[in-house]
Amino acid sequence: MKEALSTREVRVGASVVIGSGHPIVVQTMCNTRTSDVRATVAQCRRLAAAGAQLIRITVPSMADVAHLQEIHTQLRSEGIETPLVADIHFSSEIAMAVVPVVEKIRINPGNFHPDHEKARALFGEFLELCKKYDRAIRIGLNHGSLGKYIVERYGNTPEAMALAAMEWVDMCIDAHFYNVMVSLKASNTVVMVNAYRELARRMQERGVVFPLHVGVTEAGNGDSGRIKSCVAISTLLSEGIGNTIRVSLTEDPANELPVARYLADRYGMAGQAGHDEGCHARPDRASLSPREASILKVACDWGAPLLNHEVDDIPIEDEYLKDEIMQACRRKFYKPEYIACPGCGRTLYNLEETFNRVKEATSGFKDVVIAVMGCIVNGPGEMADADYGYVGEGFGKVTLYRKKDPVLRHIPEDEAVDKLVELIWQDRQD
Ligand code: SF4
Repeated sequence: MKEALSTREVRVGASVVIGSGHPIVVQTMCNTRTSDVRATVAQCRRLAAAGAQLIRITVPSMADVAHLQEIHTQLRSEGIETPLVADIHFSSEIAMAVVPVVEKIRINPGNFHPDHEKARALFGEFLELCKKYDRAIRIGLNHGSLGKYIVERYGNTPEAMALAAMEWVDMCIDAHFYNVMVSLKASNTVVMVNAYRELARRMQERGVVFPLHVGVTEAGNGDSGRIKSCVAISTLLSEGIGNTIRVSLTEDPANELPVARYLADRYGMAGQAGHDEGCHARPDRASLSPREASILKVACDWGAPLLNHEVDDIPIEDEYLKDEIMQACRRKFYKPEYIACPGCGRTLYNLEETFNRVKEATSGFKDVVIAVMGCIVNGPGEMADADYGYVGEGFGKVTLYRKKDPVLRHIPEDEAVDKLVELIWQDRQD
């Protein structure tokens, strides 16, 4: 294992310190509707007890800023001090409105405005506000949602992702704002690993290294989701890249925590310079089943050698596990490649159940990438390399995509899986 990348130290609220040799921080995200304050508070309570050190909550509308405030107040009144992270898409107005409310804000500044110069100006204003309130931010860019400005200039590659992030990193440095973390997530493990490596290299060159939030986006569920997350996250952590992690699963977010805790403990940086156990009230350790623990171990043992092409095969007898790990590392595709978002407060249907139905109905296809996304606002943009997309519109309706094109709109939910299978069949016959 390489020495950890030397980063700046970022404080999130009073209790969490990230980077600069501190232990890896484990986080997750609520999938309740933010407007359902009772359900979101209950989920936060459960996630904090299960070991979440940061909890992210989506803020899809201005009205939800007040809901977020209520959630924050209720949690603090119960003595739950876990810092909250507002997840903002597109709206700089909402991003600025949540700054006084929560400890950290996740934004993609490139989406603040379609005009790039205006997006820069709005990001500058946002940074001044974060400085005033002493907030932390995450610049979160995903492979599927790079702005047009970046794709036109640099393409849709790991290098482009790192370059896009560096523009905002530079702005933070120029504004003397250092409470910053960066993430460059992708569902493709090769793209994801290379993007983080490139960003780490560029920040080192720049002389200011912000802590990295590492994760595989839209990893899916079950063994596949866990394995995909483990091979990529463990590869980076073993290189000393990564200070806070999220294992995104299309499941109850509480299920993400034992997997993330396993990774954090396996590659943890406790005992290194700057570690301050007092700052990190360590939550109860979440537990893994023995089967889960052995799967994660093999995925972590073999992820880096496979992703780095140091080996072409793995010497294990369990053919299923071998196939899963090989596919997660994109070395062999024995079944469709699935992309599924974890769901959040924007999800308007039963994502987990639908994803399982889609997997069951399409398992016989090969060489195809199928995405199942929770909302029409971000889903289509986030699907990245998918050949087909099942995107929930809300109100019982679904849009089906072929690549980036919506080909069937407003399909009733109970017909949508069959229509998706028909669409794939038709294309195969043409
Ligand atoms: S794509 Fe999924 S995780 Fe992303 S905002 Fe929509 S519902 Fe939430």
